[in-house]
Amino acid sequence: MDQNEKRMQFILTLRSKGISDPAVLAAMESTPRNLFLEGIFKERGYEDRPLPIGSGQTVSQPSIVAKMTEALELNSRCKVLEVGTGSGYQAAILSKLVRRVYTVERHRPLARAARALFQQLDYSNITVVTGDGSLGLPEQAPFDRIILTAAAEDPPANLLAQLKVGGIMVLPVGQTDTVQAMIKVVKTENGLEYTELGEVRFVPLLAGVAKDTEH
Ligand code: SAH
Repeated sequence: MDQNEKRMQFILTLRSKGISDPAVLAAMESTPRNLFLEGIFKERGYEDRPLPIGSGQTVSQPSIVAKMTEALELNSRCKVLEVGTGSGYQAAILSKLVRRVYTVERHRPLARAARALFQQLDYSNITVVTGDGSLGLPEQAPFDRIILTAAAEDPPANLLAQLKVGGIMVLPVGQTDTVQAMIKVVKTENGLEYTELGEVRFVPLLAGVAKDTEH
């Protein structure tokens, strides 16, 4: 298969897994995942599997990225916070659908690589911050949407506090190495509404900035 056929197959796979929002499909189609992968994994961007990135982390499988993106019900006025930049792939997809993306990563080398890539690819509405994303970004809050790409035991209170009324948060919850559920939380004037979106497996949300050996 050549790249065009692979890309068409990729979109068909996303559709067969229930992704139907045309804007989300278009963003996925115009964002080649291989740009966010390294070495031998570069050729495998169109596979619907999680793949290794640096610092012992993984980029999620595209159908999960698409599902989370769709669940966020984005529009062009949204200011979004992502916790867990990783390769930058999810942030790149979000950036095509919203006004502004803030993404926080606890591994400095990953944050640095994603920042360089966004600059090189001219994604000018993404800001990458090195830090502990479970604390959110109080100076940029409140957010219209919040997405976590690392699993917490419960939705972090700091993040719920930084979500606007009417806002949506999508995240995996559950304990490390057990089954996790992807959930959608809608913040209303009367409180929080939860919907379960299926089983997933993500790396854990960890506290603090990582002490990486590489610089
Ligand atoms: N969205 C990423 C997925 C990366 S995996 C992508 O598209 O590639 C999840 C990432 O969350 C990892 O890079 C991990 O280091 C990061 N992470 C875990 N806990 C974190 C925290 N408290 N703050 C910021 N990033 C965190």
